[in-house]
Amino acid sequence: MARTTTTTQSPPVNSTQPQSVAKQNQISLDASQGRRRRRRRRRSSNPIIHAISALFAILNSINYWNSFWVLAVPAFGFYLATSTPLLWPTAVFSVVYYFVTGLGITAGYHRLWAHRAYTATIPLRIYLAATSAGALQDSIRTWSSDHRAHHRFTDTLKDPYSVRKGLFYSHIGWLIFKQDASLKGRTSIADLDRDPVVMWQHNFYIPLALGMAYAFPALVAGAFWSDPLGGFIYAGILRVMLVQQATFCVNSLAHYLGAATFDDHRSPRDHVLTALLTLGEGYHNFHHEFPNDFRNAVDWWQYDPTKWAIQLWFWCGLVSEVKTFDQNVIERGRMQQEVKTLEGKERLLLGMQGGAVGSGAAAATETLWSWDEFQRATTLELATRPRRHLILVAGILYDVASFLAVHPGGESLLRSAVGKDATALFNGGLETTSHHPHSRPCPASKEAPAWPPLRAESGSAMRVTSVLVLGIEGPWLIVTLGADSAGARRILETFRVGVLRGGCEVEIWKEGYREEQSR
Ligand SMILES: [Zn+2]
Ligand SMILES: [Zn+2]
Repeated sequence: MARTTTTTQSPPVNSTQPQSVAKQNQISLDASQGRRRRRRRRRSSNPIIHAISALFAILNSINYWNSFWVLAVPAFGFYLATSTPLLWPTAVFSVVYYFVTGLGITAGYHRLWAHRAYTATIPLRIYLAATSAGALQDSIRTWSSDHRAHHRFTDTLKDPYSVRKGLFYSHIGWLIFKQDASLKGRTSIADLDRDPVVMWQHNFYIPLALGMAYAFPALVAGAFWSDPLGGFIYAGILRVMLVQQATFCVNSLAHYLGAATFDDHRSPRDHVLTALLTLGEGYHNFHHEFPNDFRNAVDWWQYDPTKWAIQLWFWCGLVSEVKTFDQNVIERGRMQQEVKTLEGKERLLLGMQGGAVGSGAAAATETLWSWDEFQRATTLELATRPRRHLILVAGILYDVASFLAVHPGGESLLRSAVGKDATALFNGGLETTSHHPHSRPCPASKEAPAWPPLRAESGSAMRVTSVLVLGIEGPWLIVTLGADSAGARRILETFRVGVLRGGCEVEIWKEGYREEQSR
């Protein structure tokens, strides 16, 4: 709503007037402005006036059209229900119609139109468009536009029902209060505009919605068991309220309650309770990571009746091009999140113990070693405290003493790397015993090693659980599962004790010095 601003302007002074009259006019104008200002100040300090103006501000911010349908009508339904008995056939019909209209939203609005997770025949599209209108959640076109913005701008100001603005806001606040449409993130719905069923539903939305939401259940209950009022109240008004609240839970509860199974950067969560309330939409963390997958519950044992309905329609030939993400990709996403969670716990544990942790931030505070200190300490440690065995990988020092006995590549192999730069050995280069720092770039000192990302091939996610293995082949040392293995890197990080001053540059300098000496 455009705001009007009131500005007080001085009337133009006639230049032909004598100066004294103009001055007098100015003085009386200043006095009246002062009086007005004082009155305004008195009014703003009055608590009653302040409360009334706050109330008017709230009343002005309400979206009365939406509030009527999602709050006032259900309240009226509850009032009518107190004087209308619920008959058994009406109760059963109400539950059935709840699932029918609810599936219209979850399988139709959400997975078919908003996400294009499958393709449906025209009869099925008409059925879904008609039944979903009976849930009173605006047209497919409007709903999908909002939902696409929600996925594209999740948790930002452009997300139309961002949970970052509060649970109440994401549940119903965004509907019952006026919104600034210019803030909503832009998305394309050109594909929906080309769908004649979507446009038909959009153009005739109000009569279709009122007919399917209230008139149809009243007609069915009246025609088959003479309970039109019961059909109107229970299968109409109260059933609409339940379907609406279930959908609202996807925007609120599914962004608040449960586990971040695949990604914890953003708010979507997986929880069986939300799934039970929302016809399977509660596995929302999976859904935000894999939005075009026709499933929200990827595991067979998880509750997702919407997925089952789409599967059934597929078997009946009513849908095609049902989209699913590759299982390896899904498992990799799950495992990466598990690893991230474990790393967080490990960091917390090491931080509590005051030990070194495997991150660049921590490296800034850990011990700096010179090359000679490393050499001396290794020799002394080996002589006096044999349980400490230091190796150097990419400028970072690790004590692998506790790993010697269980090293799958053999204790002697790992022991041979003690007191040496084992970078090439760890990273898989064909090297003799490691002293070849020119062969690969070194990370800057006091920084965590710049490890390559996880491999993208399928199945690699399972292999990362392998441990640090150094193998030997003929006279050459090779790493069979070295730097490519995130598991090996994580294990190595647990042995970290310090950073070599100058990182690998020390080695480069030493190599240059040796070359100069040999000339
Ligand atoms: Zn969401
Ligand atoms: Zn979605």
